[in-house]
Amino acid sequence: MYIRLAQIGSNIVTNNDQVQYYHYQCVNDFLADALDTDIIIIQSNNDIIENACSIRKIPKFRYTLLLSESICDLPCAKQLIDGHWSSLNDAIKSLNIKVNRIAQLPNREQKGSIYSFASYLYVNNGMNIAPERNLSHPTLFTYPILDCFFENQSQNKVIDELSKLKVIQPLELVERLRLCPNCDDAHLNYVDQCPQCHSIDISTEVSIHCFICGHVDNQDHFVNRCGLKCPNCLHKLKHIGTDYDRPIENLRCAQCSNYFVDGEVVAKCMVCDRKHTPENLELRSIYSLSAGSNIEKILFSEDLTEQTAQLGEVVGFKHFTWQLDWALKLASRGLFFASLVKLQFDRHNDDLQKFDKNKELRFKEAFINRLAKQFRVTDIITQKDELTYYILLPCTTDELLKIVLERIHTFVDSIVDEESKYLDIKVSVLSLDKELSIKNKVCEIFEKLI
Ligand SMILES: [Zn+2]
Ligand SMILES: [Zn+2]
Ligand SMILES: [Zn+2]
Repeated sequence: MYIRLAQIGSNIVTNNDQVQYYHYQCVNDFLADALDTDIIIIQSNNDIIENACSIRKIPKFRYTLLLSESICDLPCAKQLIDGHWSSLNDAIKSLNIKVNRIAQLPNREQKGSIYSFASYLYVNNGMNIAPERNLSHPTLFTYPILDCFFENQSQNKVIDELSKLKVIQPLELVERLRLCPNCDDAHLNYVDQCPQCHSIDISTEVSIHCFICGHVDNQDHFVNRCGLKCPNCLHKLKHIGTDYDRPIENLRCAQCSNYFVDGEVVAKCMVCDRKHTPENLELRSIYSLSAGSNIEKILFSEDLTEQTAQLGEVVGFKHFTWQLDWALKLASRGLFFASLVKLQFDRHNDDLQKFDKNKELRFKEAFINRLAKQFRVTDIITQKDELTYYILLPCTTDELLKIVLERIHTFVDSIVDEESKYLDIKVSVLSLDKELSIKNKVCEIFEKLI
């Protein structure tokens, strides 16, 4: 039996009778061919992460032994490649370990990305998933392997879901980030500004405070040929502490001439242009990740749909429908009442092209996370599709509902400005009282909310 070995870049393995050998100039040539292989060797160059990603993205190469031609020190490479080439014997040993793990997987049929990712973690037992620093990414860190399995999905959402299912767990804290609460971007500029007129045109000024008349002014105005002289009372100022001192205010605003001790610090988002006080920024901790405690359960026994959300978390639409049905049945017996709120995003068609898809995704994610904070822990929130959210508010009187709606409107008004050019948010509401609940089924209830 031959081992099929593909080499991309330099020739470091020579042909021998154990190996069926293929050589490619670059990863694209290899992917164009996409022959079944047992071992792939890629170059250890600057593009190693990108190249390994494009190989791992192809389902048939997810479990192939992928080696770099020499040692790769990047911590984030470990989630994509299996090590470096040293000898054919070593490669065969690693290959056998991998093949044995793969053989233990219950079945390889497609069950969705989470299942495939859990299988990947199972095969690569003990893998450490370190974040890659990526300055062009909105949150500055990404996990390349998540891009291979969950392409075009928000990594934060993916990580939240995988953590909840215990497919992954945090291993080590790598960084703590502050993000713009409006667009979830970490590209912030912290700047001092005038506390009175909020101009950033401020500068340090060395001043003098005359004890004789109390005059405070720029030091330049006190200096004359013979030393210091107050420009107001014309007294000579000889001794610091007796005749004069330097005030602790030393910042001057060029716009309004305000003179102050500390500037007001604001974080300006370089993406959406909003200014925020540092306390209002979203905090996010970036961890390296490892396989979670539920991997084997998920692969060998449990159905993922059995997993439920914690109180206060956004639930799946199926879960929500079940809960609404239960609420309606109780309400129709007069034992319960609730309100159902629908939030509908609408894109302006003509501006559709202008709104960047990733920006929209991040905006909506930041939106739903902050929206969730506006509700009680017993309110139930779901996202039906890309543009529709429902919230079930149990035991909410009309008066309370009014307050909640006001809060939603204030919240929506407070965040929508740049985005409002592209997205409208419509709020509609329905009271689930006894009469309505007797007459309508769940699907009819959803239809009543336009
Ligand atoms: Zn000012
Ligand atoms: Zn004076
Ligand atoms: Zn922003």
